[in-house]
Amino acid sequence: MTAPYAPQSPQTPRAPHEFEREHRPQALQTPRAPQPRQTTERHIAGRGTPDADWQAWRGLAELPPITAAELAPTQGRAIIIAPHPDDEVLACGGLLQLLHAQGTRTVLLAVTDGTASHPGSGLLSPTDLARLRPQETAAALQTMGLDNANAPQLLRARLPDGQVRAHLEELHTLLRQLLRPDDTVFVTWRQDGHPDHEACGLAASLAARACRATLVEMPVWSWHWATPGDPRLPWHRARRLQLSDDVLRRKQQAVQCFQTQLHDDPSSGQQAILPPHVLARLLHPYEIYFT
Ligand SMILES: [Zn+2]
Repeated sequence: MTAPYAPQSPQTPRAPHEFEREHRPQALQTPRAPQPRQTTERHIAGRGTPDADWQAWRGLAELPPITAAELAPTQGRAIIIAPHPDDEVLACGGLLQLLHAQGTRTVLLAVTDGTASHPGSGLLSPTDLARLRPQETAAALQTMGLDNANAPQLLRARLPDGQVRAHLEELHTLLRQLLRPDDTVFVTWRQDGHPDHEACGLAASLAARACRATLVEMPVWSWHWATPGDPRLPWHRARRLQLSDDVLRRKQQAVQCFQTQLHDDPSSGQQAILPPHVLARLLHPYEIYFT
């Protein structure tokens, strides 16, 4: 989920739209590659839509249910694409547990190591983050019981955090080599609002189509900038995966492993990337998938 900015902080020097100006997207050389709409339509700024607003909206409760087996049949693999360490838990930590329980072979692709989460910090350098954040993911998987023989296979693309769009072709090529027709690919939604999340979604959608794999997209930052019933979200594709109390509790415990994201950084003045009001939007007894 990591952003190279603090979503709460209006004075942060690297808000998403500024990021866009700094890192112009390079043209993907794949023929007929659709370009995402401008991320500036989906600003991640301020505190975002309160979780209470989402919970008060009946639309979420009325979304059609889906099971883990329906999302990812056991005979194929589930490929989870995380733009940053923590997205795999925030977006689909419940599903990961359910896939593990049903014996689905799972591959977790960490696209970046999340080294850009603390710009200007005197406490956490990019080198520190490159070491710590993958460790946090490993601890989170262990916390969810995903560290045994059927543990997800971990792959790291090591693309630069905040610059996935500029490496779209590289990611697309990697995915073309990885994906098989019976795979189900879980990736952050192509219009999730964060440039890295959108770039991962775009690369995965193209690669999945080329490899005849199934694509499922996941909103993460969308809960921040969108509003209940927001016509910009593909509600017609949205499905609701119910989580048991135990699964939700382990997901909540796993999130606590992402210590670098949970605290303010006094050395830079940056607020926590995952403060309580952000986590509140992401830790419910269900997860939403765009099928
Ligand atoms: Zn992320």
